Amino acid sequence: MCIFCKIARKEEKAYIVYESDKVIAFLDINPVSKGHTLIVPKEHYENILEVPSDVSKDLHDAIKAVCEKLKVFNPAGFNIITNIGKQAGQVIMHAHIHIIPRYGDEDSKPITFGKPVKVDLEEVYKALA
Ligand code: AMP
Ligand code: ZN
Repeated sequence: MCIFCKIARKEEKAYIVYESDKVIAFLDINPVSKGHTLIVPKEHYENILEVPSDVSKDLHDAIKAVCEKLKVFNPAGFNIITNIGKQAGQVIMHAHIHIIPRYGDEDSKPITFGKPVKVDLEEVYKALA
């Protein structure tokens, strides 16, 4: 069983900050800012694309509730991020959403996507039509 499944079952210690029927949220063990929280479906899905719609709604409710709680630290904003696949930086293969409060200081710089690449937008648009 994966580590997030164990946390969801309370078989592994975590600092749980929010819980509902289908979702649990706990502090990231290696926070990149004060209050960095992970929101996780209690059932195991490999990534957010595998999560059924009814659970997604609960995840969204959790995002709002957790951000509301984190306002106690007076963040200037939040990054809300999910990684899908190793190449995208996913390490724990149990769907999770990072809530990262940003304070506008050196230690919590916002995430950037890297420098823009040259892509033919017309071609991409046609491929997606
Ligand atoms: P990702 O790279 O999106 O898969 O992120 C996985 C995150 O899980 C990392 O930020 C880790 O610090 C965090 N993490 C790993 N194990 C634990 C744990 N036992 N409790 C809390 N957070 C964890
Ligand atoms: Zn799991």
